Amino acid sequence: CGIIGILGEHSAAPLMVEALRRLEYRGYDSAGIATVHDGVLGRRRAVGKLGALADLLVVDPIQGRSGIGHTRWATHGKPTVANAHPHRSGPVAVVHNGIIENFRELRAELEGKGHTFVTETDTETVAVLCAQNLADGLPPIEAAVATLKRLEGAFALCFLFEGEDDLIVAARRGSPLAIGHGEGEMFVGSDALALAPFTRRITYLNDGDHVVLTRAGAEIFDTDGAATDRPTKTVALDN
Ligand code: GLU
Repeated sequence: CGIIGILGEHSAAPLMVEALRRLEYRGYDSAGIATVHDGVLGRRRAVGKLGALADLLVVDPIQGRSGIGHTRWATHGKPTVANAHPHRSGPVAVVHNGIIENFRELRAELEGKGHTFVTETDTETVAVLCAQNLADGLPPIEAAVATLKRLEGAFALCFLFEGEDDLIVAARRGSPLAIGHGEGEMFVGSDALALAPFTRRITYLNDGDHVVLTRAGAEIFDTDGAATDRPTKTVALDN
């Protein structure tokens, strides 16, 4: 229900927990984060309040300056650790708000290709489909874009890749997503409030856009896949 993504200069885990706290008002039943550290993808997830995730991170910390995080409001599958985001398939991790309407067809297709599923969520199909695209030889950005083309429904999504310390691909279709511009750092989140601890310089994606985020900036593409510009604003927020 809430999304955060960080390509930063500092350990991402505590920053993501802070951002997710600012999205608590949306409601949620579980939470999780994934990071890339020394090229390796790792994740931590917990059922219940963000305090449970924060407690887990004390006993089982996770390093890395790049990451994605999520608070989940379950629509498909009970609120369990296995169903909590980020979902992972091989070298890709995904966080997702909303619903993938055609997940059953996609899942059947991917099972036909030999994939096994470990969750009850619609989201896992996104991770598995993207992993299949990578296995088919597509580079990460193209694999994510090819995945997005197959999805039906209303959603916001972020992709994080093993071996890619400076890349998040994100997309919005029906659910809001905002990009935050830092100094040599970039952020993406469900709203400007989540990004307020980091930056006030915000670019809102239009519906149907996807964005390739690196620390150097954001490249935004419209529904047709054409590179496009969206206005960057300095937002005033009380916090
Ligand atoms: N449909 C997804 C799930 O049930 C995402 C729900 C959400 O927006 O948090 O896991």
